[in-house]
Amino acid sequence: MEEHIVRILNIKQVTHDVKRFQVAKPDGYSFEPGQATEVSVNSPEMRNRKQPFTFTCLTSAPYLEFTIKIYPERKGVTASLDRLNPGDELILRDVWGAIHYSGPGVFVAGGAGITPFLSILRDLDDKGKISGNRLIFANKTRADIIYEDYFRNLLGNDFITILSREKAEGYAYGHVNGEFLVENIPDFSKQFYVCGPDAMIKSVVGLLGELGIVQKSITIEL
Ligand SMILES: Cc1cc2nc3c(=O)[nH]c(=O)nc-3n(C[C@H](O)[C@H](O)[C@H](O)COP(=O)(O)OP(=O)(O)OC[C@H]3O[C@@H](n4cnc5c(N)ncnc54)[C@H](O)[C@@H]3O)c2cc1C
Repeated sequence: MEEHIVRILNIKQVTHDVKRFQVAKPDGYSFEPGQATEVSVNSPEMRNRKQPFTFTCLTSAPYLEFTIKIYPERKGVTASLDRLNPGDELILRDVWGAIHYSGPGVFVAGGAGITPFLSILRDLDDKGKISGNRLIFANKTRADIIYEDYFRNLLGNDFITILSREKAEGYAYGHVNGEFLVENIPDFSKQFYVCGPDAMIKSVVGLLGELGIVQKSITIEL
């Protein structure tokens, strides 16, 4: 597997626990919206610890971008990423991933599971093809919502949020369940894209099955 050592260009705080990293793009390196690569911090103690992260920039951008939720308590790759500064280095590897756009539909994301959809929706917007897509974004609280203003502007009434640990006006409350899906999905004949914590993917895919959605209309990361 080829390894690419890349320099961090800039780091931006996106939410209280999510950071955006823009890094130099190696010559000839390319990806499709929704794809990821395994990333390590280029330091002697961390260079062999890898985690996959999704590219969140446009494919045409002159840099690469990752949007990463930090788990300081786990002492894993993201805790190490949290300590980095512009000029420090990451190691990137091959590009892979099962999530790709196969037509208009409903995106259901939980927390940092938004990242492949951020990439896909940005790409659709760039191509003037955003219409016909809806995003259901589940989070614990309003403070956890990644790029809320961006999605609201992009999707208008097709941006639907649900919070599990905060009651707030204009936001649904609870977990995504069958009733919520029926209320918020006007057309079940389109594509479905689901990404988030494993338990959420399992639950939402099960609910979609109960609502008669065939497996081939549902895209998830395997
Ligand atoms: C295809 C793909 C794409 C992804 N893209 C993104 C992305 O774009 N952005 C993003 O933020 N994430 C993304 N992820 C998730 C990411 O790869 C990591 O799993 C996540 O960031 C955690 O990595 P970590 O090294 O910090 O912690 P981990 O390696 O998960 O944890 C380190 C240690 O902490 C302990 N631990 C693990 N889980 C828990 C827990 N629940 N509670 C307490 N302790 C625990 C274990 O001892 C573990 O060894 C993606 C995952 C996949 C599969």
